[in-house]
Amino acid sequence: MKLNIGCITEAGLSKKNRTGYWRYFFPIVDKEKCNGCGICELFCPDSCIQIKDKKCVVNGYYCKGCGICARECPRAALTMQPGGEEAE
Ligand code: SF4
Ligand code: SF4
Repeated sequence: MKLNIGCITEAGLSKKNRTGYWRYFFPIVDKEKCNGCGICELFCPDSCIQIKDKKCVVNGYYCKGCGICARECPRAALTMQPGGEEAE
């Protein structure tokens, strides 16, 4: 069978894609402002935000830096900055 470029050959392949490499901006959390409401977690298209100890934690392995989380945060607790550390 001939496989075309981009085809999915087995389940769960996206877990192996380190999409954080694509990122130019990274969301930095102001832990004083963040109240752990979870809105950013709901909006992140890559499911790379978790709320831990009532604070937002961004997974740098998968975060692509789109900025949706920062845009949707009602407390302006996220600021997009160049680069970004690896969270996990
Ligand atoms: S939306 Fe803002 S305040 Fe709510 S958990 Fe995310 S960073 Fe914190
Ligand atoms: S910048 Fe985009 S991909 Fe990264 S945590 Fe925010 S919403 Fe998710």
